[in-house]
Amino acid sequence: MQGDFDALEKRLGISRRDFLKYCTGIAATLGLSTSEAIAMAEAVAKPKKRPVVIWLHGQECTGPTETMLRSEHPTLERLILEMVSLEYHQTLDAGAGHQVEHLKELSMKENAGKYLLVVEGSIPTRDGGVYCKIAGKTMLAHTVEAAENAAAIIAFGSCASWGGVQSSGPNPTGAVGAQAVLPGKTVVNIPGCPPNPYNFLATVMHFLTFGTLPELDSQNRPKFAYGRLIHENCERRPHFDAGRFAKEFGDEGHKKGYCLYKLGCKGPETYSNCPAVEFNDVGGGTWPVGVGHPCFGCTEQGVGFTKPLFSLAEVQTHTPPNAFPSIAQREDTPGMSAGAAAVAGAAVGAAVGAAAVVSTRLGKSDSDSET
Ligand code: SF4
Repeated sequence: MQGDFDALEKRLGISRRDFLKYCTGIAATLGLSTSEAIAMAEAVAKPKKRPVVIWLHGQECTGPTETMLRSEHPTLERLILEMVSLEYHQTLDAGAGHQVEHLKELSMKENAGKYLLVVEGSIPTRDGGVYCKIAGKTMLAHTVEAAENAAAIIAFGSCASWGGVQSSGPNPTGAVGAQAVLPGKTVVNIPGCPPNPYNFLATVMHFLTFGTLPELDSQNRPKFAYGRLIHENCERRPHFDAGRFAKEFGDEGHKKGYCLYKLGCKGPETYSNCPAVEFNDVGGGTWPVGVGHPCFGCTEQGVGFTKPLFSLAEVQTHTPPNAFPSIAQREDTPGMSAGAAAVAGAAVGAAVGAAAVVSTRLGKSDSDSET
């Protein structure tokens, strides 16, 4: 195996140690053991025929591809591109026109039953799907054709998962997600606008290592990434529990980092690991609620692109109020201080999110993390 890792070091430009730490972080995100992390690392490092990926784009902004390419530490996009043989991708292909379409058909034929199909963007179905055509053929036809002999299908992003913003009323093109046009097939949905590239990477690594897809929820989302409400892991949760809210953008509560519930935050009804995994990993990562914008529920069908931002979220889980001090208690009686409540909440959030956070942190070199 050492030789495999040496070759990988050269190809990826990261040390074996960092690579193993990275795989351990991904395994932790998936809820797997250290030995399974080693199996993952070996599966990626081992020289073998890489699985072919056919990547389709429908109606969308190319956000999922962008979020994958703009990541850093340790060059996540290189890791993804190293693991797979990306044989058709309308944004990244150097070739164009009939030649690249011909190559796609050839690749799907030669790798029938073995390739991975990634769908990005929604699929218009109205009027025969004429509202999105590639190479003279509708996205609908491309998707059905490519899914026919795919070993696994991943819908990457909210548009591909259930139609996204294009499917908002009045949905003039009849936009839907991949699952809707592929009855009888299992489509793994990795929603988000944009989706988190780590969730994509972890899903692909699971498939490559074990030959199976990770456990899915009722909306076919991987449970490791969409098993908990954003509200449960949010760093502003202590403010929610203590009744401290921003009521207008730019008011005192907003400036102090209070809870964004009254600004329309949909965290209480949206399942995703955004607060733990975060985005833009350069400099430690960030996410919308972290920088003061309410969650708009992009990973949740029926919430994102459906409920207006000004509407209040349904709170599905309530913390027993006697576990937290009310504002009156805090002011008038000795009890848990505001700072203590924040620290307690942060500790819970840190414990719950640690497994996922480690995947971004471990990607950094030791020297990075010391600075
Ligand atoms: Fe965080 Fe939104 Fe929940 Fe407030 S309502 S704690 S900002 S997820």
